[in-house]
Amino acid sequence: MSAIIEIHDERFGACASSTTRLDHLYDGCRWAEGPAWFPAHRYLVWSDIPNDRMLRWDEAAGTVAEFRSPAGFSNGNTLDVEGRLVSCEHGNRRVTRTEPSGEITVIADRFEGKRLNSPNDVVVKSDGSVWFTDPSYGIASHYEGHRAESELGGCFVFRVDPGGGAPRVVADDFDRPNGLAFSPDERRLFIADSGAPHHMRVFDVGDDGGLSGGDVFAVCSDGIYDGFRFDEDGRIWTSAADGVHCFDPDGTLLGKILVPEVVANVCFGGARWNRLFICATTSLYAIHLGVIGVSPSRR
Ligand code: MG
Repeated sequence: MSAIIEIHDERFGACASSTTRLDHLYDGCRWAEGPAWFPAHRYLVWSDIPNDRMLRWDEAAGTVAEFRSPAGFSNGNTLDVEGRLVSCEHGNRRVTRTEPSGEITVIADRFEGKRLNSPNDVVVKSDGSVWFTDPSYGIASHYEGHRAESELGGCFVFRVDPGGGAPRVVADDFDRPNGLAFSPDERRLFIADSGAPHHMRVFDVGDDGGLSGGDVFAVCSDGIYDGFRFDEDGRIWTSAADGVHCFDPDGTLLGKILVPEVVANVCFGGARWNRLFICATTSLYAIHLGVIGVSPSRR
């Protein structure tokens, strides 16, 4: 289908074009989330949370296959600096890394002896530290995990230092922290709150890994911001109910890519890193853009 582009600022004209196709690559998910592009394999892995499986779209063959099932009701995925898959698992209430052998290593599953809620989204900084959000969606019902009481009594953002160790709380004033991503220079960390406030906040990242600031960067005008990614010029490409919203680093809403289903998350990929993959409810979509994406594996 032809892409439907909304231009809110003339600068968006160079970023996305309505002459481009919005490719519909797959449907059949219940809630698609967590796209991660593997450049070495030319495939995209993503989560279908309620179906407790991960799927893989292969660029060369154009086919979709099951990647992992059961998958611990996985949600957000990313690659670390060595190209290994890092996943949030609602069901197992943990963040894991998949080794090249296929073996799974637990990065974090407890804080001060208490189980995490249900890690939602994760990003790996170039120094190897792992940053993730831990809202309660995966323990709220049996639909996206296993219903349970929160042991932590709050929804925090955590960091695990390079080389591992116990997670540390880096932010504790969110309702439901969700998507997160570093600016290309990694000096700022953006975190979405999908709870009562439907907005995205921006923090300064200290040399010690601590966060300061936390001002609201943007308020979502349609639905919530869930997952998002940066392009190399620092624009934010974020999910929303009506599609993908693109923000300039100065906070201006540049434009939207309208998508027929509610969007949960996006990631850049493809041979030239100019293709945006879009997880939207039942479907995986993709669109070629006039920008180049940043991903952990490209830093
Ligand atoms: Mg999310």
